[in-house]
Amino acid sequence: MTTTPAAEEVHGTRTDREIAAADAYSAHNYHPLPVVVASAEGAWMTDVEGRRYLDMLAGYSALNFGHGNPRLIAAAKAQLDRVTLTSRAFHHDRFGQFCRELAELCGMEAVLPMNTGAEAVETAVKTARKWGYRVKGVPDGRARIVVAANNFHGRTTTVISFSTDPEARADYGPYTPGFDVVPYGDLAALEAVLDANGDDTVAVLLEPIQGEAGVLVPPPGYLAGVRALTRERGVLFIADEIQSGLGRTGRTFACEHEDVAPDVYVLGKALGGGVVPVSAVVSSREVLGVFRPGEHGSTFGGNPLACAVGLEVVDMLRSGEYQARAAELGAHLHGELALLVGGGAVTQVRGRGLWAGVDIDPALGTGREISERLLARGVLVKDTHGSTIRLAPPLVISKDDLDWSLTQLREVLAAG
Ligand code: PLP
Repeated sequence: MTTTPAAEEVHGTRTDREIAAADAYSAHNYHPLPVVVASAEGAWMTDVEGRRYLDMLAGYSALNFGHGNPRLIAAAKAQLDRVTLTSRAFHHDRFGQFCRELAELCGMEAVLPMNTGAEAVETAVKTARKWGYRVKGVPDGRARIVVAANNFHGRTTTVISFSTDPEARADYGPYTPGFDVVPYGDLAALEAVLDANGDDTVAVLLEPIQGEAGVLVPPPGYLAGVRALTRERGVLFIADEIQSGLGRTGRTFACEHEDVAPDVYVLGKALGGGVVPVSAVVSSREVLGVFRPGEHGSTFGGNPLACAVGLEVVDMLRSGEYQARAAELGAHLHGELALLVGGGAVTQVRGRGLWAGVDIDPALGTGREISERLLARGVLVKDTHGSTIRLAPPLVISKDDLDWSLTQLREVLAAG
């Protein structure tokens, strides 16, 4: 039995009415904070009542370049007036350039564009399996992929099959087989699985920093160790940089912090500039060369609008300006957050660049409660598990705005 009143019966504010309509007419697969956004610019959003909020989530890193970034909006508008969709049945004049420039940015040779992150992860799984059968010589039907505990790679049936989060998995079986889960950051555990199943293992799929798990940075040397082990065993290293990549951590890719070049990058979120969904699997010709016409695809994958926006994103990242900003402001953010750990209200802070997972002393409230208190002060953040909040502002945020958000956080924590 639902207790939600029909939207028409709700009086009160515009916010109340919008939320009532959402509650009445949408599936309740999210639990949004009670704010109804009407417009946004840069790092700021404005709600239907005209109140302004600093966006410290940036669409889970999809908005690295800020809301309404003028370059991205101009690229999208110019493309809207030309052609938006051809399907891959025909060539279009944005596709080749987008693939070339994205491949170059990644230090790779080829791109397979999709739309959402989960689709790109699915594509990487299919790529690795096909590569395993066609190139590595794994017997048919035996391919295995190693993943990490507490991963988050999306919501499709195969992807949640290798999730370790009961909430993400429950009631969705039967699950796709062929995955081995190891603890994140544990090289010995990975080596043991490769010792046991190495001949059938086609890939190790990891987030270089686990975002949804609470911005978990692996121990130093882990990514380099994974690189060495996978190379030694003839296994692909697939880095899911959907959330960690494209400037967020102060480098183009989080793998770069350990001078690691994986075999496959999986990209999404910021690749579409917060304008359109754009994702991609980027790799060598040998790996992506396993696909033949008809064996994989997507109606919207690599469409002209997506390519035009993606191309502009790649161009913006080539200058290094956004990465430098994330590194500089990130060092400041982590310096300030470290002081809070000393004060006791915050038990731990993790992250890199403009990305932080902040564990709040549970005595002060759940992550949700802290998020609601920050909302009341005009700061939008999102909790993850328990008493963790994550901070991931657009990389275009000003230092003053960042400092203002930290003041709000300090005051919320001080108020208990
Ligand atoms: N992979 C990672 C690391 C993510 O953080 C996410 C989304 O949060 C995904 C994949 C899934 O992306 P999407 O929600 O676009 O399907």
